[in-house]
Amino acid sequence: MRRRQSYPVLQRKEFVDARFEALRQKLLLSGHRITPQRLCVLHALTNSTTHPSAEEIYNQVHKTCPTTSLATIYKTLQTLKDMGEVIELEFSDGSNRYDGMRAQTHPHVVCTQCNKITDIDLTGLDDINQLAGDQSGYQIDHRRIEFYGLCGDCQEH
Ligand SMILES: [Zn+2]
Ligand SMILES: [Zn+2]
Repeated sequence: MRRRQSYPVLQRKEFVDARFEALRQKLLLSGHRITPQRLCVLHALTNSTTHPSAEEIYNQVHKTCPTTSLATIYKTLQTLKDMGEVIELEFSDGSNRYDGMRAQTHPHVVCTQCNKITDIDLTGLDDINQLAGDQSGYQIDHRRIEFYGLCGDCQEH
């Protein structure tokens, strides 16, 4: 049982390390300077499982790289977003949240109480793009799908 539980954690670490390295390489290849501050932002971004806000990334980064400013966080996020490597989820009633782990658009589930955001996989979404395009006459290039409700933790409290 214990053995079984340790696997996802290990896989997660490999996944996080690989993503961190991929983002570092992409910044490098596109001619961006790799500063220690930028690496700290990448680290915070890839080690979060909650789709953090810029402020949350800042608080995390500040522990290890106290010289990093909030402006640097925003600049790095914007650079990665422009490169198509970070998804920004905009919310009118709170801070925008960032997903640096999966560059491809995917559906999210948002907790209405603690604001946690979780990735989910749904099949058949390509058909939905087609349907939306057919009905509207638009050429669909991306979509944003969110579900709202109480997460497991919040249901217990
Ligand atoms: Zn919750
Ligand atoms: Zn996500």
